[in-house]
Amino acid sequence: MYPSLKGVSLLIQFRNVNKHFGHFHVLKDINLQIKEGEVVVIIGPSGSGKSTLLRCINRLETISDGELIVNEIPVHDKKIDINAFRRNIGMVFQHFNLYPHKKVIENIVLAPMKVLGISKKEATQTAITYLKRVGIEEKAQSYPAQLSGGQQQRVAIARGLAMNPKIMLFDEPTSALDPETIGEVLDVMRSLAHQGITMVIVTHEMGFAREVADRVIFMDKGQILEDSQPAEFFQNPGEERARLFLSRLI
Ligand code: ADP
Ligand code: MG
Repeated sequence: MYPSLKGVSLLIQFRNVNKHFGHFHVLKDINLQIKEGEVVVIIGPSGSGKSTLLRCINRLETISDGELIVNEIPVHDKKIDINAFRRNIGMVFQHFNLYPHKKVIENIVLAPMKVLGISKKEATQTAITYLKRVGIEEKAQSYPAQLSGGQQQRVAIARGLAMNPKIMLFDEPTSALDPETIGEVLDVMRSLAHQGITMVIVTHEMGFAREVADRVIFMDKGQILEDSQPAEFFQNPGEERARLFLSRLI
């Protein structure tokens, strides 16, 4: 129904998308296409609309006009089965959002059991597989508060992966972490990127962006000002505002 480019399926398509919060025009004429398996990093100043753009992808925010097609589903269409749609999209937030009164393993098996109807035995096996993948299987029986921030974020990633999503969204996943645990979370994300899962990542970690991203999107004041390869973007940003943004980070 929706066209692909050169046989590669477009998993996410923003077409002339606008979003308003009341009178505030937060996303301005966004056009963005993300292919299956791509790793796209979104950067830009605070308040530029990065989180809002990300949250539109799984309809945590609704768009005001334009078209947004994700995994061949028109997300802007109010008639879609939103729960079925969201099963294919994992999201990792800055503040982990784990259930504090549930053990790590319970945090991970909950959605696969409730939403996908998987048995407890199978969900537990899957959860342990993903805990191993993020390197903390020994924490399965711990409560979130007993873990470091980096470990909690790795649990949150394992929880997202346990739903076997097509797309993983990350909104500043390392911004709330102590400097010494940022690396362990970035390592997990780097290994996911190499496994071919489609990822859209808002981050201020420029080293990570340069190394892992297939594309870097620079946003400012609700607009996409740059959409380029990382090498090109970091060496020679075409936009003055991108240049200024990068110079302030260093
Ligand atoms: P970023 O993630 O780039 O920092 P956001 O997408 O969070 O930016 O926010 C963009 C702008 O939209 C900010 O000015 C913010 O205050 C505003 N905003 C975000 N969410 C809401 C909301 N629910 N209601 C009103 N304004 C909002
Ligand atoms: Mg944000």
